[in-house]
Amino acid sequence: MKFAKRIQSIKPSPTLAITMKANALRAQGRDIIGFGAGEPDFDTPENIKAAAVRAIADGFTKYTPVGGIDELKDAIAAKMEGDHGLNYNRSQIVVSCGAKHSLYNLIQVLCEEGDEVIVPAPYWVSYVDIVVLAGATPVIVPTEEAAGFKLTPELLRGAVTDRTRVLILNSPANPTGAAYRREELAALAAVLASREITVISDDIYEKILYDGFEFFSIAAVSEEMKDRTVIVNGVSKAYAMTGWRIGYAAGPAPIVAAVTKLQSQNTSNPASIAQKAAVEALTGSQEAVRTMVEAFRERRDLIVSALNEIPGLACPSPQGAFYVFPNVAEFFGRSFQGKIIADSTSLAAYLLDEADVAVVPGADFGADKHLRLSYATSRELIETGVARIAAALGRLG
Ligand SMILES: *Cc1c(COP(=O)(O)O)cnc(C)c1O
Repeated sequence: MKFAKRIQSIKPSPTLAITMKANALRAQGRDIIGFGAGEPDFDTPENIKAAAVRAIADGFTKYTPVGGIDELKDAIAAKMEGDHGLNYNRSQIVVSCGAKHSLYNLIQVLCEEGDEVIVPAPYWVSYVDIVVLAGATPVIVPTEEAAGFKLTPELLRGAVTDRTRVLILNSPANPTGAAYRREELAALAAVLASREITVISDDIYEKILYDGFEFFSIAAVSEEMKDRTVIVNGVSKAYAMTGWRIGYAAGPAPIVAAVTKLQSQNTSNPASIAQKAAVEALTGSQEAVRTMVEAFRERRDLIVSALNEIPGLACPSPQGAFYVFPNVAEFFGRSFQGKIIADSTSLAAYLLDEADVAVVPGADFGADKHLRLSYATSRELIETGVARIAAALGRLG
């Protein structure tokens, strides 16, 4: 059968693929410890589940407006005002079926063939394929590990061309956990001044920050930056709601109207029931978020110290999100039973085969010297899993 070039030009999400492979091995009876999944291991908080049950009982089960119910848009507006001092009205907010859906729709409405999208690396796996699906060109800008994996004004200036349409920023970042400070964002904004470039700010890990690091959005740098930034966020990560599929975008009304039009011809509204649950997530008690973030911080400290005890491995302590991204280049060129570990992909395959541990190769995020491990898992599994990794790395000759 013949398929469109569009679908042939992309790859399946590698993080979802790793999770599926680990599940398949488990089904065969193997005791696999998974550091692959990019989702909280906690259950959705009870008050949020109760709101969804109420929505079902009340018969809130019909189509809603394509871009989301006013109640949810108002909850998002109140959150933006309260958290960042940013004012958005209903025409500047669109609710989608997850933040990934918002990102996809935004790139579809903003970019086409000939357009360039700047993607700092290491990047979240889906950005590149989402850009390719729009026919646009991803311009991948590698950042320095020594500079905390952050885009600098110099790197940004070097990447911008007449064809640049969009810059994608993600802070705190998946996979590195790197988070930008206000001054760093202001310096990037200065490079963009007087250029027609839209910033898509993926703030999905905004609530998952440690050690008092204060979140700041590039949209809050100035009124001018607000007018050219679209904030993408959602309830998946902060509220352990990955399966509910609610994300949103907030930005200039014409962009939001275009996304809403696109949504009207593909998904229509996000699930009515999940929208009611998201209202409760944003307006109800935030206690569960604090509890989960504190648990993530303890696990971060545990995994960082355990990994750093492995000779040859270096793992900085990330500021946010729930991933570590250790440098494993020391192990490249070593071998096991005649097979050479050449790169992050072969190292991840070795760890799955020989240590029964699932990790994601850095190559999938545009940084081949690294592995990504999610620590959204129990302390016990972190301890056992890292011990297995240490033993397996020790067996390399
Ligand atoms: C998980 C994730 C998303 C997608 O979140 P959903 O709302 O579940 O679609 C977007 N961006 C980054 C960086 C993520 O890690």
